[in-house]
Amino acid sequence: MPYDPNNVFAKIIRGEIPCKKVYEDEHVLGFYDIAPQAPVHVLVIPKGAYIDFNDFSQNASAREVEFFVRAVGKIARELDLPDPGYRLLTNNGANAGQEVPHFHAHICGGKPLGRMLAN
Ligand code: AMP
Repeated sequence: MPYDPNNVFAKIIRGEIPCKKVYEDEHVLGFYDIAPQAPVHVLVIPKGAYIDFNDFSQNASAREVEFFVRAVGKIARELDLPDPGYRLLTNNGANAGQEVPHFHAHICGGKPLGRMLAN
């Protein structure tokens, strides 16, 4: 399946729809999730066209990977999440329930989040 340039995060990157931005650099954008699942729920995306983690981990440049990982850490620290802790996750593909086909990591925190999976 090719990358869909009309997915909602591609539109956010192009500035066609708004987002509540928390972070931006040359390769990465961070913004609040529109339907938060925790008191703090931020999405971190590469600006490059990658469908999911599988795509990103194979095809992104070393520079894009480094910027992405460093940005996640910076955002979490700026939001005071490392202590007491936070969850970092990415849904990859259908079995994970990935809704938006542009690679993204969820940063969730602000309260104890319980077990990782419901069952
Ligand atoms: P996933 O199921 O991992 O693909 O997560 C997609 C996430 O994107 C969900 O948590 C949605 O609430 C979030 N989302 C969808 N549209 C927007 C938007 N326009 N701005 C911010 N977050 C969005």
